[in-house]
Amino acid sequence: MAIGDFEWTLTPGVEPPPDADSVLRLAVRLGSLAIDRQLAADRMLFQATHDSLTGLSNRTLLVDRVASAVQRARVHDTRLAVIILDIDRFKVVNDSLGHGAGDHLLIQVADRLARSIRAVDTVARFGGDEFVVLLEEVASRAQLEQTVDRIQQLLRRPVDVEGTIADVSASMGVVEGDGQSSVDDLLKNADVAMYRAKTAGRNRYEMFDQEMQEWAAHRHETEAALRLGLERDELVALYQPIVELGTTRVKGFEALARWDRPGVGLVGPAEFIDIAEDLGVIDEIGQRMLGAAARQLTVWRLFDAGLTISVNVSGREPARPDFVTAVAAILEETGADPDGVILEITESVLLDDAEAIGERLAALQGLGVRVAIDDFGTGYSSLRYLRELPVDILKTDRAFISADNAELHDPTIVASVTDLGHALGLEIVAEGIETPAQLDALRTLGIDSGQGYLFGRPAPADEATAHIVDQSHSRASG
Ligand code: C2E
Ligand code: MG
Ligand code: MG
Repeated sequence: MAIGDFEWTLTPGVEPPPDADSVLRLAVRLGSLAIDRQLAADRMLFQATHDSLTGLSNRTLLVDRVASAVQRARVHDTRLAVIILDIDRFKVVNDSLGHGAGDHLLIQVADRLARSIRAVDTVARFGGDEFVVLLEEVASRAQLEQTVDRIQQLLRRPVDVEGTIADVSASMGVVEGDGQSSVDDLLKNADVAMYRAKTAGRNRYEMFDQEMQEWAAHRHETEAALRLGLERDELVALYQPIVELGTTRVKGFEALARWDRPGVGLVGPAEFIDIAEDLGVIDEIGQRMLGAAARQLTVWRLFDAGLTISVNVSGREPARPDFVTAVAAILEETGADPDGVILEITESVLLDDAEAIGERLAALQGLGVRVAIDDFGTGYSSLRYLRELPVDILKTDRAFISADNAELHDPTIVASVTDLGHALGLEIVAEGIETPAQLDALRTLGIDSGQGYLFGRPAPADEATAHIVDQSHSRASG
């Protein structure tokens, strides 16, 4: 074989030599493969750093950007700001108009935010309905406030969500930073300020400041103490009597949670239930309260076989898939009669997802326990829900009963709630009875049962036991 004249012997398994054309084709193919690969890599990088729905930067990229912004602020001695923004009542849009509408709203908000900032700034979606804006080279507090105002104005314009005009507003937390700031602190503090804006009534912004710093520190301390308190079994139940209005005989008790915090004393639920919900330990609190109450019930029923125990359920609990199983397990373990157990659920919870909650409540009734709507009349009372939901008892809110004039605040409302409840076959319990005049008025309206300081304050279990023993003796002797 001569090299010069390209003569090849055909050996089996060896390919013939490529001609110039096929070499070219191969080169083109390899080239385009390389481009495809690069494009795919770019795409992957984009996907890893951007939110797929809105195309905005995601959390990962934002954290990176904030870190670089802090560095630049150090070099150039400038200031920066981070805004965390959460759409108000987004869940309502999502639930009432559907997820497609929810997505549509998020995209429009993303658009508005992207248009409201300068090229040096960054907008990111942090997940859910939460967005973050990073502002660099912030000249002054006044300029920052102007920018925040502008964002707020832009967001407040109504949005057309698939034919429905929705009002949009957001709660924002703003924190200023400089070259010395830590990325973690900036994000955490902006979040604290946002939380404050939400709790102050939404549709507003709050600037993080020293006072908020102290508030956040106090809250962190409470969170840690509450976690530890649960480990150390510092949760206690107090019991408040519920009486038959006609006779004022005690027919049952409501278990009310207290935290026996070392060095502080008994802390009321207003100061720790919210925190427990945020920490994700509310299920544990709910289960312990139900366990304690169910054990009490088995003891008390030895003296009075008709006695009931009411336990409060936080809005978060029924949403959990294994809620009903957990209740069943506690009933089984404590041996409590299900028909003596009443679970109280606040009215506002029912609106969240009436259908799913309705199924849970029906399943609870299937276990033999009864369901009460607590604080009825305060929230989104809807007659429709009342008719459709599997409920046994209505507890009218204290606001209807207790008033400065020591009588009923609004007798017509109480009367119509009572009539409606009775028409639906529900038992009515009036809460917050403090005076004999209120008791008389409620009796006249035909309300079945009542609860309030007039009959007894929340008290430790042994006081409740003493009362039941007395009552059963006087019944036996009378
Ligand atoms: P609630 O279930 O509506 O409980 C009634 C509240 O009204 C109790 O407050 C009780 O002490 C108070 N109260 C009763 N009678 C009167 C009265 O005549 N006048 C006045 N001014 N107040 C009266 P408390 O114990 O501070 O509980 C507040 C709320 O905390 C409860 O409202 C309930 O929603 C929640 N809560 C209590 N225990 C638990 C629990 O174990 N789990 C959950 N998730 N929430 C609980
Ligand atoms: Mg209650
Ligand atoms: Mg209540």
